[in-house]
Amino acid sequence: MKRKILIINTGGTLSSVMKENGLAPGLNTHDMEKELHIVSGDTSLEIEDFCALDSANIFPEDWSLLARRISELRNSYDGIVVIHGTDTLAYTSSMLSFMLQNVNIPVVITGSQLSIKDPIADAMENCRCAIHMAASGIPGVFVAFNRKVMLGCRASKVRSMSFDAFESINYPYVAQISSLGMSIDEKAVPARNGVFHLADSYSTKVCMIRMFPGIHRSLLESLAEQGYKGIYIEAYGIGGMPFVKHDFIGTVEKLINQGITIVVGTQCPYEGSKMDVYETGRRALEIGVLQAHDMTGEAALTKLMWILGMTENLSEIRDYYSINIAGEMRV
Ligand code: ASP
Repeated sequence: MKRKILIINTGGTLSSVMKENGLAPGLNTHDMEKELHIVSGDTSLEIEDFCALDSANIFPEDWSLLARRISELRNSYDGIVVIHGTDTLAYTSSMLSFMLQNVNIPVVITGSQLSIKDPIADAMENCRCAIHMAASGIPGVFVAFNRKVMLGCRASKVRSMSFDAFESINYPYVAQISSLGMSIDEKAVPARNGVFHLADSYSTKVCMIRMFPGIHRSLLESLAEQGYKGIYIEAYGIGGMPFVKHDFIGTVEKLINQGITIVVGTQCPYEGSKMDVYETGRRALEIGVLQAHDMTGEAALTKLMWILGMTENLSEIRDYYSINIAGEMRV
């Protein structure tokens, strides 16, 4: 029997057209039907529009609504493909990896660098790869791009223009397409460890800051005054932060004592944090920051939003953050 696949369109370049104010989503699934059917292979394809947004306009409430929609539909299809703008795609794929706990079908997110109506675009190839993965029967949340499939919580946009815009960070690709077809590395797919459950809450009181020489601790203080409950800091190298001329780490400690959760990762795209090596990292570990280890920035941030949406209990937050939930972290 043919696999039943649903494509949900949220917008992005793949569905864009040139408008008066620049390139913007303008095609609905009906307009893209012909192209999508060309790449649907031996599947029975259905399509639906969810929204038509440049992904810069995607907000956490959209993640929650999308997770709910997928949850409602997950027993009616063998797989679901989500078309999404590439700019915030990795944030969405990371958050869906947390919200769709133990999802029972493949959910594959894709997009493109050129509109599907452009004859030289990557759009049809990316949809072909996504549909093929969605028909694979392998459950999980994935990103398909440039003939590669990666875990949703390991994907990151690393190029702004080229077709190889996404990479799987600190983790093997789940699948690749070559002249031998699609080869899937099943060992790279985290095992389901329970029944599906939708966990679509999140906290909006989470912020992400990137360390730079000259950063002032008053920035942290103002976040605390505004009621932020979680801060993800992209620190230097393997996780260093200043304490000599400006005692940034001292202010981090004050915030932790006020009940704010601070996670520290690295601004280096590869290999992650290891904060027990230098004094600039160890001091921060000793005052109780959490480490992002080898997570992507997108996963580290959305994991914090997701956990703070579930609980305000500080030891529960620490416990949840320190375990691997969807394949996002290897300690
Ligand atoms: N600005 C677009 C978006 O993220 C870029 C893309 O889709 O490639 O929606």
